[in-house]
Amino acid sequence: MKIKPEEMKNGVMMQYFEWNLPNDGNLWKQLKDDAKHLHEIGITAVWIPPAYKADEQQDEGYATYDLYDLGEFEQNNTVRTKYGTKQELKEMIEELHRYKISVYLDTVMNHKSEGDYTEKFMVKEVDPKDRTKELGDAFEIQGWTGYQFKGRSGKYSGFKWHWYHFSGVGFDDAKKRSGVFKIMGENKDWSSGVDDENGNYDFLLGNDIDLNHPEVIKELNSWGLWVSEELNLDGMRLDAIKHMKDQFVKQFVETIRAKRGKDFYAVGEYWSGDRKKLENYLEVVDNTVDLFDVPLHYNLWEASQKGKDYDMQTLFDNALFISHPEEAVTFVDNHDSQAGSSLESQIQDWFKPLAYGLILLMKDGYPCLFYGDYYKIKDKESPHRLIIDIILKARCQYAYGEQTNYFDHPCTVGFVRMGDKEHADSGLAFLISNDEDGDKKMNVGKDRKGETWIDITGSIEQTVVIDENGDGLFLVKGRNLSIWAKG
Ligand code: CA
Repeated sequence: MKIKPEEMKNGVMMQYFEWNLPNDGNLWKQLKDDAKHLHEIGITAVWIPPAYKADEQQDEGYATYDLYDLGEFEQNNTVRTKYGTKQELKEMIEELHRYKISVYLDTVMNHKSEGDYTEKFMVKEVDPKDRTKELGDAFEIQGWTGYQFKGRSGKYSGFKWHWYHFSGVGFDDAKKRSGVFKIMGENKDWSSGVDDENGNYDFLLGNDIDLNHPEVIKELNSWGLWVSEELNLDGMRLDAIKHMKDQFVKQFVETIRAKRGKDFYAVGEYWSGDRKKLENYLEVVDNTVDLFDVPLHYNLWEASQKGKDYDMQTLFDNALFISHPEEAVTFVDNHDSQAGSSLESQIQDWFKPLAYGLILLMKDGYPCLFYGDYYKIKDKESPHRLIIDIILKARCQYAYGEQTNYFDHPCTVGFVRMGDKEHADSGLAFLISNDEDGDKKMNVGKDRKGETWIDITGSIEQTVVIDENGDGLFLVKGRNLSIWAKG
């Protein structure tokens, strides 16, 4: 089981990249320069993209080639990655640590991109829609499964990957044909403990790593320990875990915690809107990892699409944080959901401030702020930066204590945070509306009677005086949010 350090309470994670960043090798330097500012706005952890050598320089890092090359060796025609060199990476992390910001590395262990040379081995082609269904007899294939890592010359690890370290490949070079090819051999099969979509969702893309192979388990564990030490990491974001053997993930995280400490953080990307699948996963891995609250993301998306036709009382239905407040990482959008990406489901602009208000001010979940929502996507500046700054400040100053929900109207919903003794004048009232201007009587506690509260977003000029029962009649503008606190 993981232990959450005290400073993570009211912490905010930031995903510090989006899909379309320029291939200028500048991200690590930019993040280093941004450390002080991030600290000032209340960011306490940063999720950085895959920092190791991919198939080509411009790759985002998910087409993994060599996990041990953090932008240090001349491989695949480049020393640096899309984001910079290893030296810049290390300097960036040191700077973030100076401001007490934790660093979580995006970790890709489900697959690798093409290797250095082809090998011949036996496969069976399977139905992409049902990978348990074999299409014909076994045959010999030529796959890009041989890895030499010549540029690295065995530094850090002498491990050489071969076809038998994989469970499947997506390309037959002999016939220049794509497909889903299951590798045949002793103890070879799709893995158990993966998502059951498409019959068995072990294979996602590229060369699928065989996480049942003892040499692979040993090598990946060894890499995990190495990279955590080498970069002084505080945690990891584990990519594509629905395609990976669940017990591998569990033992991997436990292996690192044994060395790095119980508070080494881990969150897994299990992309499913089905809360039951996420709950089942948490159970089988004994809560060793947190999970992104994908069901909540889809609710936010639907609400943003439907506008006033969405019943706001259902906004939290089936959200992971309801049943697992300590294991859910709440988010609005990410590099996969942003427009043009593989899992496109981008929350519409009008709703983003409302969505960030929700995840940043509510008690449950560990919120994650997306680079694209704060800074920009491609060259388009985000229109949300100012309001997100205000919400982050509100989180830091006021979002403490118990929460009372007022999800009692189809268009105007909100909640109250009661505040706590450690934070003077903390406590807030939060309202959102997806239709017309609204108001709601909410109770902020009898001990607050006579106080004058203001909307710190600046959207409403009127003030609210708390009555003798602790009630206030709070207002919100249509398709907007308001955050009320003691003025
Ligand atoms: Ca897999």
